[in-house]
Amino acid sequence: MTPPLWFDPSHMLIGGTLTRSDDTLTLINPSDGSSLAQIARGQAKDIDAAVKAAHAARTGEWGRMTATERGRILTEIGRKVMERAEDLAVLEALDVGKPLTQARADATALARYMEFYGGAADKITGETIPYLAGYTVYTLREPHGVTGHIVPWNYPMQIIGRSVGAALAMGNACVLKPAEEACLTALAFAHIAQEAGLPDGALNVVPGLGAEAGAALAGHPGVQHISFTGSVGTGALVQQAAGANVVPVTLELGGKSPQLVFDDADLDAALPFLVNAGIQNAGQTCSASSRILVQRGVYDVVRIRMAEAYANLTVGPALDDQRVGPLISTRQKDIVQGFLAKGADLTIAAQGTLQNTPDTGAYVLPTLFDNVPADHTLARDEIFGPVQVLIPFDTEDEALTIANSTDYGLVASVWTRDGARQMRLAKALHAGQVFINNYGAGGGVELPFGGVGKSGHGREKGFEALYGFSTLKTVAAHHG
Ligand code: NAD
Repeated sequence: MTPPLWFDPSHMLIGGTLTRSDDTLTLINPSDGSSLAQIARGQAKDIDAAVKAAHAARTGEWGRMTATERGRILTEIGRKVMERAEDLAVLEALDVGKPLTQARADATALARYMEFYGGAADKITGETIPYLAGYTVYTLREPHGVTGHIVPWNYPMQIIGRSVGAALAMGNACVLKPAEEACLTALAFAHIAQEAGLPDGALNVVPGLGAEAGAALAGHPGVQHISFTGSVGTGALVQQAAGANVVPVTLELGGKSPQLVFDDADLDAALPFLVNAGIQNAGQTCSASSRILVQRGVYDVVRIRMAEAYANLTVGPALDDQRVGPLISTRQKDIVQGFLAKGADLTIAAQGTLQNTPDTGAYVLPTLFDNVPADHTLARDEIFGPVQVLIPFDTEDEALTIANSTDYGLVASVWTRDGARQMRLAKALHAGQVFINNYGAGGGVELPFGGVGKSGHGREKGFEALYGFSTLKTVAAHHG
């Protein structure tokens, strides 16, 4: 299928102007390996031009707008995103390989972020501080200035929504570097934002390779904040590069998120979450639940019921809208198959089935491993594919020790009817988000999100992101 493009994807958007790069890259459709579009291969000089355009926006029309005016524009962007939701979903499906239903949910989430941050823009206030006699002291929340946004390929629309949406709401001007594997919706979003009245330069998009455009953005001395979502290794590089300019960084990295299922859990409620949290977006989700820890009393029942669910998991091209699509690339497929090979010593409890999958696509079978030792590679390392491990446990303490035993700490969930246990574990689990008797809570834009340990630092989503995308000034007036 030809992608529904109403803009030229081979150009960057810098200062409101379509700009050619010296070279281009080919985007691949992972469902069949065909080429989808030519995109710009932005270089350091293009990032430099984008940062200058963002600075100009900060001192121009965008910088002069009131918070209410900014909020109105964001709300209008959200409305226009909804008008274009189907086109955006098809673009994301073709580009990422995401089944259409999941891509539609991402387009709706993008609109929802704009609506939320549009409404929040004029609701962030400073405070007055009681102080010495003769003083009036108050705080001002101010934008950082120019913010850099380095985004991965797995959820472009959602990640752009949460980081660019919050940054714009606070009055920053953004330079967005989408992933080289999937950047069509980033460009589409910038065009929609322009149509909705976002002043030139408030959002600039420079596609390109990580080592070129990404590194140039991370280390640019004209950027005052970097938001990075991606792998641990790249996140560390980005933090180093930004550190050289003493620039704050928000890192949203990977995870190995557990679900803890106790003997007293409501299994009918838990089962759909146990499976879906592992196979959504073919497991290429930072908050994917790849470890299912099950208490011995219900272990066999959970294994049998999850295996039944896996037997019904169909894998197919994104536009066929099966439960699972291809991975982003044949490179990612090789990585996941490498992990499956490392599980050769384990028992496979169940796998999904392929449906009309071209050999040229990047497909792997969703795989559930049985009775996996907690220290096995498959139980500790992030796989970023549709692979889950079942790990039995006896006691609450043992479950907690296993849950907290990886380097990551993004998300965890607890399935139990015991209220005291819910509270104990919510405190003790090493994670940025803990869910009780659910997983993900529908992904609400209102809920602060981020990790501990190697999952990163800083929070996005909700009001919390608005604090991260702003800086606090204290004003102390002495008036006697
Ligand atoms: P990646 O780190 O390779 O790439 C992410 C982005 O960084 C891309 O835009 C890439 O071009 C850019 N990049 C690459 N090298 C760079 C460099 N030297 N300097 C600056 N930018 C550079 O990650 P990926 O393979 O695209 O994504 C997969 C990883 O991302 C997984 O580990 C996953 O867990 C993580 N992730 C985390 C979250 C989260 O919110 N915590 C969300 C999505 C993905």
